[in-house]
Amino acid sequence: MSLTQKIDFPGGGSVEQPLGIFINNEYHKAVDGGTFETINPTTEKPIVALQEATEKDVDLAVAAARKAFEGEWRAVIPEQRAKYLQKLADLMERDAEILAKLESLDNGKAVSMAAGADIPMSIACLRYYAGWSDKIEGRVMDTNPDTFAYTRAEPIGVCGQIIPWNFPLLMWSWKIGPAIATGNVVVMKVAEQTPLTGLYCGKLIKEAGFPPGVINILAGYGKTAGAAIAAHMDVDKVAFTGSTIVGRSIMKAAAGSNLKKVTLELGGKSPNIVFKDADIEQAISWVNFGIYMNHGQCCCAGSRIYVQEEIYDKFLEAFKARAKKNVVGLPHEANTFQGPQVSKVQFDRIMGYIDEGKKAGAKVEIGGERHGNEGYFIQPTIFSGVSEDMKIMQEEIFGPVCSIAKFKTEEDAIKVGNHSTYGLAAAVHTTNINTAIRVANALRAGTVWVNNYNMLHHQLPFGGYKESGIGRELGEAALANYTQTKTVNIRLGGALFG
Ligand code: ADP
Repeated sequence: MSLTQKIDFPGGGSVEQPLGIFINNEYHKAVDGGTFETINPTTEKPIVALQEATEKDVDLAVAAARKAFEGEWRAVIPEQRAKYLQKLADLMERDAEILAKLESLDNGKAVSMAAGADIPMSIACLRYYAGWSDKIEGRVMDTNPDTFAYTRAEPIGVCGQIIPWNFPLLMWSWKIGPAIATGNVVVMKVAEQTPLTGLYCGKLIKEAGFPPGVINILAGYGKTAGAAIAAHMDVDKVAFTGSTIVGRSIMKAAAGSNLKKVTLELGGKSPNIVFKDADIEQAISWVNFGIYMNHGQCCCAGSRIYVQEEIYDKFLEAFKARAKKNVVGLPHEANTFQGPQVSKVQFDRIMGYIDEGKKAGAKVEIGGERHGNEGYFIQPTIFSGVSEDMKIMQEEIFGPVCSIAKFKTEEDAIKVGNHSTYGLAAAVHTTNINTAIRVANALRAGTVWVNNYNMLHHQLPFGGYKESGIGRELGEAALANYTQTKTVNIRLGGALFG
């Protein structure tokens, strides 16, 4: 079986796609010989079959990473790490069009979205962390005239990284950037639903000149390859982005093996709060973008919309009109805003939540049905008449489905905003700076947007309060998750102890 295959893109162009497991800068067959298919969510047909990594491949990848970490990589100076990351970013820029089309094909997101956001943001993230590579510093602590004490921010070692399918290459870059900048080595498992761009970039890693074993990429299932990473005795850290339920199992696996360090970026049920003094037209655009961007497949999606009662009716009518204008269609077409959901599993899950909402007595204001009869398309959906205890108000749906409710006072808004086991993000729309800051400070969420939504940036830390996660990605904050502090305390002389 060949380890590459030509894929033709629906809008024109093609790519020679690697299908193997990327270890030591080469693509390999799976040790167990298994393969799995990645499905095109627009046609429901397979795109290609890939080598399926299992525990044995994880073992090989971890061994390669360990060898690199203790060998060649150790001697690479920080400036050179920066050069590798910059070079990788250059190559991704060179191949940006291929990457955008590939991402769209595999995930179902619009090519315009991948080309305008996912790919450039992935590249920018790698460049940002390239800049940090030679700025990883320790401190000198003046404890006593007879000692010289300092700290070093050392890499953790072999980092297992497990990423989801909603922003495949962006999550790849968020994880690889800070890990490499701080001198770690990586065993990455891409999501089984969207393995193509991450695997493709293996080629670019080699071309960028990274020594073998520094970044290894495996495609395979969570319960096998993912679980093997989380439980591995020679993986020093695991960084995971995905569902809260799997996050818990990763923590358990870490606790039950070598107590590897764990960072988690998990689910959300984020409130989007609109005050009566907001710029309504602006607020509607951001509320629409907040829930429907990426087909609602965002951990930070603004899925609970709270509008102050004085403007509720007017807002709802205008929001419905706005959401109906979102073009649901084929990902490669230029004006498409919303493509299919990523998989049959997700499609069924979301449709299940929609049924659940209907049965619980919530009112479907728009949508509530499948869109078309081929592909995993779902109509943008708004529920009203919801109560706080309904499942659709409490659980993450991860689709183009939101609920809208009224609130009376600022105090009420904060109370309902915080009424969730999650705490990933929130937003406030108001023209009053005092309201904005008071509410932003009171919301228990890792990110609060004011008069915008989903404005992520590689310089700004991102992560969850409560059950939305542990640790922060992006910004300087992510470096702390990839370094460990060593204290060196030197006795200079003076009186002997005792
Ligand atoms: P979703 O439900 O959105 O698909 P998951 O949390 O299931 O998200 O998946 C996110 C990533 O975690 C994927 O790469 C998946 O293969 C992986 N994964 C799923 N289950 C496990 C597990 N038990 N252990 C480790 N990784 C897992």
